[in-house]
Order: sequence, then structure tokens, then C-alpha cells
Amino acid sequence: MNSHQLFRNSRFRLALWYALVMGAILSISGFGMYRTLVKAKWEALEQEIESIAGTLHDSLEPMLPISEAPTLVLQQIFPELCVVGQTCNTNPTLIQRHTIGISDRNTYYIRLFDDGGNLLAFSPNQPTKLTQTWRSVSWQTLRSTNGIRYRQFTIILHSAAAHQEVNNSNPASSWGYLQIGRTLESFDVEVKQFQWILAFWFPIALSGVGISSWWLSGLAMQPIYESYQQQKEFTANAAHELRSPLASLLATVEAILRIPQSNPQDIKTMLQTVERQGRRLSNLIADLLFLTSLEHNSSSPQLFQPCCLNDLIGDLTEEFLELTTFAKIDLISQIPDDEIYVLGNEPQLYRLVSNLITNAIHYTPNDGQVVVSLTACDRTAFITVKDTGIGIPPSEQARIFERFYRVDSHRDRKTGGTGLGLAIARAISQNHQGDITVKSQVGTGSLFTIHLPVVASNKKASD
Ligand code: ADP
Repeated sequence: MNSHQLFRNSRFRLALWYALVMGAILSISGFGMYRTLVKAKWEALEQEIESIAGTLHDSLEPMLPISEAPTLVLQQIFPELCVVGQTCNTNPTLIQRHTIGISDRNTYYIRLFDDGGNLLAFSPNQPTKLTQTWRSVSWQTLRSTNGIRYRQFTIILHSAAAHQEVNNSNPASSWGYLQIGRTLESFDVEVKQFQWILAFWFPIALSGVGISSWWLSGLAMQPIYESYQQQKEFTANAAHELRSPLASLLATVEAILRIPQSNPQDIKTMLQTVERQGRRLSNLIADLLFLTSLEHNSSSPQLFQPCCLNDLIGDLTEEFLELTTFAKIDLISQIPDDEIYVLGNEPQLYRLVSNLITNAIHYTPNDGQVVVSLTACDRTAFITVKDTGIGIPPSEQARIFERFYRVDSHRDRKTGGTGLGLAIARAISQNHQGDITVKSQVGTGSLFTIHLPVVASNKKASD
């Protein structure tokens, strides 16, 4: 297929489109998955910070002083925090982590601001060079000097007294602000890993798509290519079959034109040749048209009639009796008493069986035997045509049903066959929801079996 420019180009185009579509689907779904995963992780991370901030906020607010300096209170509440303006103990004793809800103090940091936005206290592990001022946004993403990113959440704190003011429907001023920050280091590492996985697998997956596209387009093109080859072969064969009788016909006409008019006997012989060749051509064309009409399923099964196979085989054996007597071949028919009916087109069924009998007679030498039998089993009728002829080599048995195929083209052309007989027989049987099979042995004979669905089987009334 690849040696043929048209098919190679079509295959390439098909593979390219397939790869493009598959690649686009793969990219969109891969990117979508990546985005969803990152978003889910980010949201989980924010929820975690928010819940810790909420726990701290709820535990802190009742203990916040109303007016006095907060330093003492802060030291009591957060013994591990560094208070601004005092020496910071960077190696704090363990505090009640569960109280503040932070399980990993390397991951989180806390900062406390007063109402005016001035830093009051902070965790010793807070990132270096973090801005010491407060900004009135809930969520911030910051980057420390060593490149680590942090997600920070700010929440307003009210003192217990301020709460009472709110309850008395007076506007309450805030006590200050609590900031909880979390390192994004592990999150960034995971995202990076994910990006690496995508960067590694994506080209591999795309190459896989490319290779499979090429393979699949090859598979898709194969039947088209085979059909194209068959058509090509058919055209070549048809042209070849038509050329021989035409050439002979033209040569005869030319000869007639050259012969002096005074020789009527020669003219008659030549005209007979013209007639024979013309008839051969006409038969060939009729066979071709018939085969085409069968392949296009032009004979609709709705027009089929019940046909009695017993009568059909009986008539055919009678018809061929003269020919077999002349060829010194013993023609035997084995027809059961019960009548077997199939739904079909009677002339076509005649043609089907007669093609097989004609072949059996043609390919059986003198003193041979041809047996035509009819049986039925499991609602299937079997018509077998068995001969003691030359047989067909096993390697050729699958091909003899192809149009114009001949086992030995030189020998068969002499016998007058067109190479369409079995193609027509198979087309007719398939048109009747049946099939045709062959078993043969070179030098022993052949057995052709037609399978047809039975529509009715009647017991013959005894006389
Ligand atoms: P043809 O018109 O040449 O007989 P067919 O299509 O009927 O064409 O048969 C195809 C070929 O199959 C024949 O050319 C012949 O070689 C082989 N063939 C068919 N029937 C028989 C048979 N009964 N015995 C031996 N060879 C057969």
C-alpha cells in the first residue's frame, strides 16, 4: 500500500488528522487534570490555614486586654512568640500546640498586629525580610528572600469588651489583627513534580498517539486498498477477456473485406466465425452486467417466490442428459421424496445450479461421473454437485470464486469458460442468504455444496 503514492498520501493525511485530534484531546484532558489537581490542593491548603486561624481567633479573643499594654498578656498566651522590643527566645519550650491548633510549627508562622497595624509579636520561624507592616487584605502570597513562597491569611481580632459593645449595638473597634502564614514549599515541590511527570509523559504519550495513528490509518486504508486492487484487477481482466474475441472478430472482418467476392463459401465460414465471436462477446457482457446487478442487490428479496428445489434439479439433470451422454459422463441425480422449497428467484437458482453442473461436466474426463444431490437439515437445503474430474489444488480453492479467475487460464479458455461462472454462482447464493463451498482433490474430483435457507418442506402426497 505504501508503494502507491495516492494511498501513501491518504494514509499520511488520515494519520495526521487522527494524531492531531487525539493529541488535542490528550492535551486538553491532561491540562484539565493538572489544573483540577492543583486547584484542589490549593483550596485544601487555604481551608487548612483558615481553620487554624479560626481556632486561634476563637481561643484568643476572650483573653485579649481592653486597654492596658498587651505585652504581658501576649507572653502569657503565646510564650513561644517573640514580642517586639524584647529579646526573642529562638529555642522556645514546647507549648500546648493543640491549643493553637498548629501541628507543625516549621510549616506555619503567626504574627499579631495592633489596631494601628504595628507588629506586636511574631513566631521566631517567620520568614526573613517579611514586610513588617500590615496590609488590609485577607489573603496574600509572599516570597521570602530564600525564594520560598508563603500563603498568608489575616483575620481581625476583637477584645471581649468590644464584643459586649457590639451586643449593645454600638460599633465595635477592632483590637488588632492576627496573621497566619503557611509555607508553600511542599505544595510547590508537588506541583513541580507533577509538571515534571507531565513533561516526561506527554511527549511519550504523543509519540504513542503518532505511532498508533499511523498503524490505525493503515488498518482503515487496507480494505479500501484491497477493493481498489480488486477493481484494478477486474478492469484489467475484463479488458483482456474482451480483447481476444474482438481482435479475432476484427481480423475475420478484415479478411472478408480482402477476399474476392467470387468465393461465397469462404465468406460464409468467416461470417460464422464473426457470429461465434460476437456471441461470445455478447455472453461475456451479459454475464458482467448480470454479476453487477447481483452485487448491487438489484433483485429485491421481496420479489422472491417459493421455489421447489426437487423440480429444479430434476429439470436441470434432464436438460444436461444429452450433453453428458455425448461426453460419455454418467450424470446421476439424487432427489428426496419430500419437496424442499426455498424463497428465491427461479431463473437465478437455475443459473446457480447449472453453472456448477456445467463446470463439473467440463472438468470431468470421459467415463467420469457427476452426481447432483439434494438434502435438507435444520432448515437448510444442501445442493451438492460432485464430480470425478481433474480437481482443484488447495491453494486455488479460495480464489476460484473471484471474477475471471481460472486455475489454468490457457486450458480453461480453450474449454470456452469466461471465468465468471463461479463468481456468478456465489453472488446468486449470497443474494439468497446462502453460500457456496468447495472441497476438492487434484486427480480425484470436486464437491461443490450450495447452502440455502429452507422456507418449507412438504411430504410428497402418495399416489
Ligand atoms: P470458467 O468459466 O472458466 O469455468 P468458473 O468461474 O466457472 O470459470 O470457474 C473458475 C475456475 O475454477 C475454472 O477455470 C476451473 O479452473 C476451476 N473449476 C471450476 N469448477 C471446477 C470443477 N468442477 N473441477 C475442476 N476445476 C473447476
